[in-house]
Amino acid sequence: MPPAVLIEKLQKRYGNVEAVKNVSLQIEPAEIFGLLGPNGAGKTTTLRCLCTLAIPDSGRIEVSGDSVLANPRLARQRLGYVAQEVALDKVLTGRELLELQAALYHIPRAAIKHRIEQVIDLLGLEEWADKKTGTYSGGIRKRLDLAAGLLHQPDVLVLDEPTVGLDIESRVAVWDFLRQLRASGTTVLITSHYLEEVDALADRVAIIDKGVVIATGTPSELKDGLGGDRVTLRIREFTPLEEVERAKSLLEPLPHVQEIIVNTAQGNSLNLVVTPQSDALLTIQQALKDAGLPIFGISQSRPSLDDVYLAATGQTLLDAELAAVATRDPKKEKKQNMR
Ligand code: ADP
Repeated sequence: MPPAVLIEKLQKRYGNVEAVKNVSLQIEPAEIFGLLGPNGAGKTTTLRCLCTLAIPDSGRIEVSGDSVLANPRLARQRLGYVAQEVALDKVLTGRELLELQAALYHIPRAAIKHRIEQVIDLLGLEEWADKKTGTYSGGIRKRLDLAAGLLHQPDVLVLDEPTVGLDIESRVAVWDFLRQLRASGTTVLITSHYLEEVDALADRVAIIDKGVVIATGTPSELKDGLGGDRVTLRIREFTPLEEVERAKSLLEPLPHVQEIIVNTAQGNSLNLVVTPQSDALLTIQQALKDAGLPIFGISQSRPSLDDVYLAATGQTLLDAELAAVATRDPKKEKKQNMR
């Protein structure tokens, strides 16, 4: 069986912004695949190229073995796309919007009514379908978006940040629904910058940073690949670089310390990889004490997807997000909102 989605060496630029530099993904049928990365990493652009909403500069994209570029109509039949923000017309009811969507997807007239009932039932929207969408909460609106994306019974459902801005109850409802979809054989591709969400939900993930895939695998493979527990250490709230470098060279030769990264984005904290279930923490504390260095904070944990990101890029996902906000160009932003 061909992969549900195959993307090879995708490239897409907007003017002089290289939104996607090199993205390759292989997504198998009936898996939930998570595309993880900070804002501006190129996730939406990748999805838009897949869903025929943007034309790549180069690369290959296939859905169930057929080229998206050569056969965009077929691709659109097989793919359902739920964008991040859907401009719902607030004066229409949910059912009216679904009727509009059915017409856009050329669903045969005879089938429309039945399909709409099916998706309303699937998403538990009976109570809401005949109310104006202007009265919907964020969670209900997202359920309607999902219903619209599924109306033409796509093999692959593509969701851009499906839980952004939702309360925890609605997020859990979306996760449960995506798991149900997978069980019924639908392939699900989601983007997210919520690490725990992707960790819990996705069978496999790709981490994307600055338009390039930097890691792919199951969440456990990626985390286990890091080989040890993480220790986060802060000497002071804001440690001078010379002091942190001194601590680093002091701790590097210790038994059980495998690797040390200085996290400059977090007040020069130290991120250490240590042998799991060892007495590394005690040894580190003792070594710092002997050298007369203070400890502002120290903690040990199993690796998370954020550690995978940190190991690959030298900063945490959150720091990458903050850096992206700080360097955001308002003109570009406006353009992006107009896409
Ligand atoms: P993500 O979904 O990971 O947040 P995007 O794919 O939206 O990332 O954006 C990747 C980069 O491409 C960003 O720098 C963004 O500003 C830029 N970009 C995306 N779409 C456009 C567009 N239509 N015009 C200009 N620049 C764009």
